[in-house]
Amino acid sequence: MRQMNCAECERKISDFLGDRLRGLDVYRFKEHTDHCPSCKEELTIQFLSQEGIAHLETGTSFHLEQELSGFMERALNTHRRKIRIRLGMAVYEAVALLVIFGIYFYAGN
Ligand SMILES: [Zn+2]
Repeated sequence: MRQMNCAECERKISDFLGDRLRGLDVYRFKEHTDHCPSCKEELTIQFLSQEGIAHLETGTSFHLEQELSGFMERALNTHRRKIRIRLGMAVYEAVALLVIFGIYFYAGN
């Protein structure tokens, strides 16, 4: 899996926060921000300005670290679920094809 560089990572921060990051990009984004303090800081700042303001308006308390890691977890879980669904569909399709071919050959004989 190709590593994400800082320029790429910074471009994807707003996509990540807007839930527009797809596929392996979510993993590569997390991987990079986990190991790159400057991108993590940039992400934290943008997350704070997006989420923190909403919390200020509603007056609820806001734990930055917790909220950010929760947000990250949700993004990863969504992606994992999608991969599982796709794998499940592939299995059903393969079984369906086998059944169709089975009927075809059975009927042909
Ligand atoms: Zn970086």
